[in-house]
Amino acid sequence: MKLSELYTKNLNSADKKPVISIEIFPPKAVDDNEFSLKKEQLFCELAALNKILKPSLVSITYGAAGSNSEKSDEIIRNMLEKFDYSAIMPHFTCVCSKKRFIEEYLNALKTYGIENILALKGDEPEDIKVCYRDFHYASDLVEFIKSKTDFEIAVAGYPEGHIAANSIEEDIKHLKNKVQKGGSVIFTQFFFENDKFYRYLELLEKNGVKTPVVAGLLPVISYQGFLKMIKLSGIKPSSKVLNLFEKYQDSKEDTIKAGIEQASIQADDLIRNGVSGLHFYTLNKARSTAEVLKNICLC
Ligand code: FAD
Repeated sequence: MKLSELYTKNLNSADKKPVISIEIFPPKAVDDNEFSLKKEQLFCELAALNKILKPSLVSITYGAAGSNSEKSDEIIRNMLEKFDYSAIMPHFTCVCSKKRFIEEYLNALKTYGIENILALKGDEPEDIKVCYRDFHYASDLVEFIKSKTDFEIAVAGYPEGHIAANSIEEDIKHLKNKVQKGGSVIFTQFFFENDKFYRYLELLEKNGVKTPVVAGLLPVISYQGFLKMIKLSGIKPSSKVLNLFEKYQDSKEDTIKAGIEQASIQADDLIRNGVSGLHFYTLNKARSTAEVLKNICLC
């Protein structure tokens, strides 16, 4: 199913339940054997989550500069064989990539029956030997995909502003450009305070951006992981949220429980405020997302 159909169907339905989507990533592994093992574990996690509530859309991350493109490709093909999700949305990054490579990859996705793609810039890897400059920003990739294919395109949005942007206003101007070039749904970076998301929606509306905005939620499962992810993405959680996860840093189980509670409270409030979709950064684990879905009574 195409993204626009998925999200418009929701808008027009009587109960207006948000579209539930999840993000997974190709497991990191030292060799093919380890990758196969971790891939099977990931599929077990997906099967467990599907028993609670099958997400309408699953997105699969992609390494900047095509660093793990073969692994992403394998996961996508295997998922299409094993599961019948309404929509599968590979992420795709353009930094350091050549147009020709991108065109070939898009053609391969098309042959699998993929209809949607999340078009991203990606972050330039520090250790890269050759970095092509065919694309500068995600908007260039959106334009390229639109000119070559009929994929439905999603783009990334940042409720706290992108880490490299001078201001959120400037970042929204660039987001608007991505939408005008063909982005039909915005998936946001995770955030921990819904007020930031609502303020973002207001700014988007003020700037004439009318596409559905899907809220990114991260149920935290480890304190070190939380610190790493907020640093990488430039997210600045409130002291309340920082203290919450700091308090449980020595207990994995308590951290998971706090993460579930935090994400459940956020999800519940977002649903009551009519959010189009909830996108869970699962970190390849079913439990926390499944618990949040149970808590918010969507299953
Ligand atoms: P862009 O939209 O190009 O924006 C990047 C920066 O450039 C922003 O600061 C923007 O304001 C600025 N900018 C944009 N256009 C212009 C212009 N014309 N002139 C000047 N400045 C401009 N990364 C991965 O490597 N793989 C993934 O699978 C992945 N998945 C993601 C999924 C989501 C939902 C999100 C939110 C992020 C994801 N990322 C992923 C991270 C993303 O690649 C990085 O945040 C990257 O730095 C920016 O990507 P973008 O597509 O938002 O870039």
